[in-house]
Amino acid sequence: MKTTFTSGLAIATAFTLLTASGSAADSPAALLPSSHAAHVHAPVSISGGTQVAPSVALDLLHAQDQQFERQIVQVAPNVFTAVGYHGANTSMIVGTDGVIIVDTLMVPTAAATALQALRAYSDKPVKAIIYTHSHGDHIGGASAFVGDEMPAIYAMEGFGSAEGVTEMVGPIKAKRNVRQFGRNLPLAEQTNRGVAPAGTVDRDGGKGILPPTVLVPHRGDRTVIAGVELEFHYAPGETDDAMFIWLPREKVLFAGDNFYSSFPNLYAIRGTAYRNVLNWSESVARMATFKPHHVVPGHTLPIHGQEAATTALENYSAAIRSVYDQTVEGLNAGKSPDQLAHDVTLPAHLKDKPYLIEYYGTVSNAVRAISVGLLGWFDGNPTTLNPLEPAIAAQKIARLAGGTRNLTTQMEAALQQGDYQWALELSDHVKWLTDGDPTRAREIKIEALRGLGALEYNAPNRNYYLSYANELESGQLRDPWF
Ligand SMILES: [Zn+2]
Repeated sequence: MKTTFTSGLAIATAFTLLTASGSAADSPAALLPSSHAAHVHAPVSISGGTQVAPSVALDLLHAQDQQFERQIVQVAPNVFTAVGYHGANTSMIVGTDGVIIVDTLMVPTAAATALQALRAYSDKPVKAIIYTHSHGDHIGGASAFVGDEMPAIYAMEGFGSAEGVTEMVGPIKAKRNVRQFGRNLPLAEQTNRGVAPAGTVDRDGGKGILPPTVLVPHRGDRTVIAGVELEFHYAPGETDDAMFIWLPREKVLFAGDNFYSSFPNLYAIRGTAYRNVLNWSESVARMATFKPHHVVPGHTLPIHGQEAATTALENYSAAIRSVYDQTVEGLNAGKSPDQLAHDVTLPAHLKDKPYLIEYYGTVSNAVRAISVGLLGWFDGNPTTLNPLEPAIAAQKIARLAGGTRNLTTQMEAALQQGDYQWALELSDHVKWLTDGDPTRAREIKIEALRGLGALEYNAPNRNYYLSYANELESGQLRDPWF
């Protein structure tokens, strides 16, 4: 559904989003200044569920920055989590004659800095490293934690399967990754990455990876390291090789990337194989059954208190399940993913929870991913079995508009009116027309992408729009994109 909003409505929406998530003390950015109306001059059409007035989008993203401000959080008397030292978290559990590290960041230099800060609390040798899953931002800095003796390195059976299935499309995934995370954005356009800060230094990314020496079976396992009791539980979700770690004595649960403070990235727009959404929901539901007193996420701040931690996990699981169930129900009713992407929303009692705001994942992207994961690309409508070749469709649209010149005028008008999505769609037609002006179409596309980017509080969408605009403008992106 397309909605036109004025800045006032957008502010009200965002205000509700923030204030409903808790008291002002829980959410320091809850009280937005009332001067936002001045920043938006014309009504703007929103085409996505994570679009609000530009100043509101910025305020929301800045509020989320607090989730990865650099700090050491003491989770329990012997458990410490380093937040904000790179994209992800790394934790240290202190035992009798050594420490255990959970996740190692992406780069050895950042990992070494985090370890130095953690060393304020213990200088005991590292006895073990545990990888919650195989994504590079959790394993690439491992070498920084190795001292005189080689620690045991624990990971789940099937470790490394997460991205392996799509490695043949690695080159395009790498380009899309740069856009999703805004890695090449100039400072002025950087905000954050949803559950991680922008501007991380990645030069030695992945250089510290150490292979696991102990593979935990899917049925799970328990052990004692340096006097610390640990349980490993298989938890497929963001990846199929994920596990959560439970400390029964401390009642601390390390969730890996199946939980963090944002609606989960059930689909990554950088491109990913299907992430089994149902498994993800069930894994988080299982975490909740432990009724942890503290949850340490793979990114963002730990959540403390049995009630708060358990409720957060229950709500998180329920949110994923709700999106899945609504999508399945809609598909079975014959609805298209395009329509469902606009129809499916989080239930009212979940959508304003601070850990379910769509900073990283979005509901609409998830709906499309679930549809493709369950049914493949065909939406069931025979019209889409053999759609017109883009150049032919463009010619027919131009004819319908009364000629290429009229179509170009409409494209420009859409941009002027802040109807950015429509401007984008028309520019994609104009670019195919042999009597069209591809340079003008490119200019309009760049501006429309920037317009959309400014509206987004979902960081991956925002970063992608802005990065793509810059690639078009610099000439880095040409045919077949333009
Ligand atoms: Zn991660």
